Amino acid sequence: MTDGVIPLLDLRQIGRTPPVPHPLPPPRPGPWLDARGRPLRDLRISVTDRCNFRCSYCMPKEVFDKHYAFLPHRDLLSFEEITRLAGVFAGLGVQKLRLTGGEPLLRRNLEALIAQLAELRTPEGQPLDLTLTTNGSLLARKARALRDAGLRRVTVSLDALDDAIFRRMNDVDFPVAEVLRGIEAAQAAGLAPIKVNMVVKRGTNDDQIVPMAHHFRGTGVVLRFIEYMDVGMSNGWRMDEVLPSAQVLARLREDAELVPLAATVEGETATRWGYADGSGEIGLISSVTQAFCGDCNRARLSTEGRLYTCLFAGDGHDLRALLRGDGEHPPRSDAEIAAALGALWTRRGDRYSELRASLPAADSGPARRVEMHYIGG
Ligand code: SAM
Repeated sequence: MTDGVIPLLDLRQIGRTPPVPHPLPPPRPGPWLDARGRPLRDLRISVTDRCNFRCSYCMPKEVFDKHYAFLPHRDLLSFEEITRLAGVFAGLGVQKLRLTGGEPLLRRNLEALIAQLAELRTPEGQPLDLTLTTNGSLLARKARALRDAGLRRVTVSLDALDDAIFRRMNDVDFPVAEVLRGIEAAQAAGLAPIKVNMVVKRGTNDDQIVPMAHHFRGTGVVLRFIEYMDVGMSNGWRMDEVLPSAQVLARLREDAELVPLAATVEGETATRWGYADGSGEIGLISSVTQAFCGDCNRARLSTEGRLYTCLFAGDGHDLRALLRGDGEHPPRSDAEIAAALGALWTRRGDRYSELRASLPAADSGPARRVEMHYIGG
């Protein structure tokens, strides 16, 4: 194997899921801080492990083909189970919910889940910041219904404006015009602010950086450039395909005057830059070259109810067993689930992206990492 190359393998099924603590610790009030002093504020919920795109950096066709065993419906958390868990998380300090996947708009009747989640409140009585990440393919059709159900804003993934490059990257020949139509529909429906995420792969779509910036400048859409990450085990990630954010920024600054902007919220993933003439802003998400584990306040709930405390984790904690009961234990109460979550969070010490930088070149990190489509972005 070449140095730094991760083999094409799907290891999702291998390995043991660490159990939630048993016996459950007694409940205690929040706020919960993890072992590195980070609070829990942001919960990302994967509502399906299926996607209609086959982006090579996420769900490459060679692995996710017709033989791939996606989760059967009975294994998915139901809308009621997701809402119940989200409510417990809200009680522990979570203020933001992001629905993701797979492609979340493929989950049937997602509006019903959004309507349930929109009813949740923080202990202070505030609604949660409810958002969704989508590839935009079904957005033109669904934007209005999502907004009516209570969704507040949306992030759309779009890697190129050039139709040929975009079709190649999604690898299902999906046209860029349809995603752009989805973004317009989301704007018209009042889902705002809209963010567009572009994963930049050197040699694949880096010539799209400036055209993308031109397209969205002055539209109110915030374009964010994401470094191609070594997430999962399937994408054959190589460091030489990462275009560091510093180089993205340099290219943008050759084209337009940009000034640094302050972060808006604690734990923000993107570094913000504004056009000097006030015509909008862009963001840089540099999880490879400038790790931001230090204030990471995110937890991720997989489609089947496993809790991951890091995007690069190998294993998740089985919360579905708490909801449904298992052979040994009956279903748990909300207070018991809160106690389990608190115990898991306070033990959390994850900081993979920071450690990655110190790994020797030939070391590709943990032996097994969960796939992005399974826990979402
Ligand atoms: N299907 C939805 C979408 O396309 O936005 C939600 C799930 S997708 C896994 C979430 C985000 O993760 C997308 O913006 C995608 O581009 C990003 N992503 C997936 N694999 C990535 C990788 N290896 N590096 C950086 N971003 C990645």
